[in-house]
Amino acid sequence: MTPESDSPDTGSERDSEPTHEHAFQAETQRLLDLVIHSLYTHKDIFLRELISNASDALDKLRFEGLTRPELLPAGELEIELKLDSESRSLEVADNGVGMTRAEAVENLGTIARSGTRQFLERLGEADAEVSRDLIGQFGVGFYASFMVADEVEVLTRRAGEEGATRWRSRGDGTFQVEDAQRDECGTSVRLKLREPDEEDGLRDYAAEPELRRIVRRYSDFVAYPIRLQIDAGERTEPLNSRQAIWTRPAAEVGDEEYAEFYKHVSHDWNEPLERVSVHIEGNYEARALLFLPSQAPLDLYHADSAQRGVQLYVKRVFIMDDCREMLPEWLRFVRGVVDAEDAALNVSRELLQNDRQVRAIRKRLVKKLLDSLERMLREEREKYARFWAEFGPVLKEALYSLEPERERVLKLLLCETSESAGGLTTLAEYVERMGEGQEEIHYLTGGSPEMLRRSPQLEAFRARGREVLLLSDRIDEVWPQQQPEFEGRRLAPVGQGELAPSDESQKEALEAKQSLHRDLLQRLRSLLQEEVKQVRFSTRLTDSPVCLVGDEGDLSPRLEEMLRQSGQDVPATKRILELNPDHPLIGGLQGLFEREPASETLARCARLLYAQALLIEGQTPPDPAGLAEQLGALMLDALGD
Ligand code: ADP
Repeated sequence: MTPESDSPDTGSERDSEPTHEHAFQAETQRLLDLVIHSLYTHKDIFLRELISNASDALDKLRFEGLTRPELLPAGELEIELKLDSESRSLEVADNGVGMTRAEAVENLGTIARSGTRQFLERLGEADAEVSRDLIGQFGVGFYASFMVADEVEVLTRRAGEEGATRWRSRGDGTFQVEDAQRDECGTSVRLKLREPDEEDGLRDYAAEPELRRIVRRYSDFVAYPIRLQIDAGERTEPLNSRQAIWTRPAAEVGDEEYAEFYKHVSHDWNEPLERVSVHIEGNYEARALLFLPSQAPLDLYHADSAQRGVQLYVKRVFIMDDCREMLPEWLRFVRGVVDAEDAALNVSRELLQNDRQVRAIRKRLVKKLLDSLERMLREEREKYARFWAEFGPVLKEALYSLEPERERVLKLLLCETSESAGGLTTLAEYVERMGEGQEEIHYLTGGSPEMLRRSPQLEAFRARGREVLLLSDRIDEVWPQQQPEFEGRRLAPVGQGELAPSDESQKEALEAKQSLHRDLLQRLRSLLQEEVKQVRFSTRLTDSPVCLVGDEGDLSPRLEEMLRQSGQDVPATKRILELNPDHPLIGGLQGLFEREPASETLARCARLLYAQALLIEGQTPPDPAGLAEQLGALMLDALGD
């Protein structure tokens, strides 16, 4: 990794060192070319990178100063931006740890960061457009300076050393190094700013408002003051608030300040519903300050929405917005900040996906968020219900994911039931209420709880004193099949499969009816063979004459429709028409059938029964005009000639 040079460069030989010309390491040059030539957007970040380096250097010195206080500068540890508008020169200076000559050559001439090689290889295959995006998200660090400057000069002095080093490059393949003088330890990076060029996305970085804007946006929470000095005039107050609110003790901050911060990171006008602070120690150190919004954003269900998600910071320096790797999709409504201590995270989003540290942090964040939701459910039920109303359907996405947390999420589920009269229940509460002999958790899916509550499919369950969960979110059509158990009890859809008679006498009665009406059932089946796969009696109904059910494992009509809407080619599943053997209509139909087996009225009744079953479910019968005609004809019949 040593740069090509014809004589060794070490700090100790500095007294006799003349100016040396070095070539950049090949990879560095490639990265530089990419930075200069393909990065049209994100130019602002050059300043963030320089400030971030300065802040690191201050961290290091502060750390070394713990054991060697003589290294620390007399004044405050700080970062200074010095602007000379005449010459368009911008200097970013720190009084941090600085670099020896050898370190400057090594650090600023090579890229030692892991992942850089793979990154460049990937860039090699990508087209220009993609390259630009990738590189924009990749921390190009110090080299980002060449996006905005024709020439970069670094003057640096290592803490504890006398002499300094000047490093200079035009980003054209070589850099020069020479001995120099600097009053105190630290580093100044001086950029000869290019003229602004709007077309090239190059703003006027020699303008004070631009500098203030960038510092506020990206480096507001840097722990050291960032001051601005223009044309050797007065130094300003710090441009950054320096308030890394997540590092401060909660008692000191107060709800109002947290809420302001929430609004700042989320761009939400409402107060947050809940705050979750996380402090991760051990192998991977990080802090997070997360919020649950009180209202779902409009674009919550748009896959490609411009969400803000959580911001990633590394050591108080802003890295990226909407860092999706930090939380699973089903927690995408969470807002806030994650601040990791390991600078290796300053990489592309692609690399973050496979990062062990990110995985470890994410796991902890998920755990803490679930802890917090569980607590809210336990202690603040009403507030939890508000949360659930906004984000419940998103949380349910965990139930069909492969995430290990899905068991925990299942416990967080709230839903209405056939007996709840609008109130919400958890699965655990449901199980507690289950009566003698009930093994399964019954549920019914469909359009809305109100409609479900009137479903004839619930009749037998009511008659037997069984409560049924009413699941009306679209996602409810999917997850119970993926997650068919809760604490060892099966989740059983009430609209599928045969419902066993409740006892021996009911069974006998059903069998007797079946043999009594065998021919009628046969006739109805042949009349409806296009529409349903079976016509049968069942004990599911107590009041209504008919309902439609599926075989076990059949797609529900709503799921079928959802799949079709998403462009999938699903064959229509025929359903089963169940009749109530005790309904007076059956006697009437039997009479008509015996008198006139080929009766047109019987055929009409069969089609009407089917249409009626569809209507009760909230479905539109396939031929509404035909249905209206049948009804008209029947009315005429009823009114007599
Ligand atoms: P990164 O900061 O991601 O390591 P950079 O290209 O920005 O990559 O910087 C390379 C290295 O140069 C840094 O790791 C650091 O060792 C050194 N460096 C850069 N800026 C400074 C500075 N202001 N003070 C001291 N060292 C610095």
